[in-house]
Amino acid sequence: MRDRTAVPTDELADRVSRLRTEVTGQVITRDDADYERARRVFNGNVDRWPAVIVRAADAADVARVIGFGRETGLPLAVRSGGHSTYGVWDDGLVLDLSALSALEIDVAGRTAWAGPGMTAVEFTKATAEHGLALGFGDTGSVGLGGLTVGGGVGYLVRRYGLTIDNLLAADVVTADGELVRADADNHPDLFWAIRGGGGNFGVVTRLQYRLDPVRNVYGGMLVLPATAEVIASFVEAAKAAPDELSTIANVMPSPPMPFVPEQFHGEPVIMAELVYCGDDIEAGKRAVAPFRELITPLADMVKAMPLADIYGPEDPDRRPITFARSLFIDDFDLAAAEQVLDFLGKATAAWPAAQLRVLGGAMARVPVDATAFAHRNREIMVVAAAVYDDVAETPVHWQWATEFTEAMRQGEGGAYANFLYMDGEERVHEAYPEATYRRLADIKRRYDPDNLFRLNANIPPSQ
Ligand SMILES: Cc1cc2nc3c(=O)[nH]c(=O)nc-3n(C[C@H](O)[C@H](O)[C@H](O)COP(=O)(O)OP(=O)(O)OC[C@H]3O[C@@H](n4cnc5c(N)ncnc54)[C@H](O)[C@@H]3O)c2cc1C
Repeated sequence: MRDRTAVPTDELADRVSRLRTEVTGQVITRDDADYERARRVFNGNVDRWPAVIVRAADAADVARVIGFGRETGLPLAVRSGGHSTYGVWDDGLVLDLSALSALEIDVAGRTAWAGPGMTAVEFTKATAEHGLALGFGDTGSVGLGGLTVGGGVGYLVRRYGLTIDNLLAADVVTADGELVRADADNHPDLFWAIRGGGGNFGVVTRLQYRLDPVRNVYGGMLVLPATAEVIASFVEAAKAAPDELSTIANVMPSPPMPFVPEQFHGEPVIMAELVYCGDDIEAGKRAVAPFRELITPLADMVKAMPLADIYGPEDPDRRPITFARSLFIDDFDLAAAEQVLDFLGKATAAWPAAQLRVLGGAMARVPVDATAFAHRNREIMVVAAAVYDDVAETPVHWQWATEFTEAMRQGEGGAYANFLYMDGEERVHEAYPEATYRRLADIKRRYDPDNLFRLNANIPPSQ
């Protein structure tokens, strides 16, 4: 077990004892029974041993933990849903916000205040009771905190934009421990920065969202054999679809799922998730028809359903060893589809995948400089992902993903901040084009001049 800390161990132990009396939430160290579970994050690639973990109970705890980070010099990892690779650090201080999961819905005003520790599926189920919803990502267990500050690209992106396009305000504890409201009128620069700039600027303790009127959607999974023609035509159809329809196409070798005929197991398929977001189910069927007509589906589970059902059941103890490497492109033709199949054929991971997300719609109608998420006018997000069995394999699969996405690159490339994993500093610049990056670095200088919040897709303060 590791035993290095920034302050002498005895001194740290004294400080931790004091901290236990100063916060309402739970303080966990290596001697506590909960330590093993508390240090765990979603990604099985991450196996780190922090010195102290604090499960904050409120904003006052958050401020105290930030102060503790300053006093001790321990590297401070902030996490909500724990789905990134930054949420725990060797010998560091973890500020765990999972307990901040309260939800207050204003049904008449169609808004909600939520804690960052709430998950996408919890929020979606709760607001569905009122016929309201908000778009998050494709996975129900992702936390609102990390997903929102990075952008939020999901099933309603073409209809209602990114998650941040529905963010009205946030309560933020800044690096000096002050609790501020950030919205269009208060701390507008901070509000701009936390909409895409990640966890660089402060710790969000509450988020206020606008909710959209969504009852049932027409959606679910469509599995198609993945020939180059079908992949290219799928992307064409997704581009031509009405804004109500958002799609996520996972091109991958078919897992041995009972609903896919056995002869296709291990063969390339498109496992597509489609969501038509509108009350008119017949219109949904019309929107999905072009995809069904591409080739005889291997499985068709697209139907009228509550939006929350798009989030399948998840095993809370599952910790897949995985990563994703993202890229934005504008054109996708038959040659690109052949390249996708070629790279999937070369992959040695147990489960490699190329994810194709056609963007546009509401997301693209927001001006590029309105928030810190600047890739709004790009047509498609490509994500090379791998799930595998042994952490030692990581460099090989990362090399594969890098070569794959570099081969697909068009012009400036680009990266999605929420899909940065082992990417280096230059990829943070790809997530934030020059003008955005400079503005973020200036705001960082004002709100976190010492770069206390640096365990993230880091933007150091401008000089
Ligand atoms: C299986 C899987 C599927 C995904 N699918 C999608 C998708 O479809 N669309 C999409 O947009 N993203 C997707 N993501 C990416 C996801 O949005 C990011 O990993 C996000 O950071 C996770 O948020 P979290 O709170 O769960 O993670 P955490 O690890 O808890 O947080 C991530 C980082 O965000 C910052 N942060 C977290 N909470 C706060 C807070 N309260 N205040 C300030 N900063 C904070 C911190 O820097 C932290 O290190 C997916 C990730 C996974 C693992």
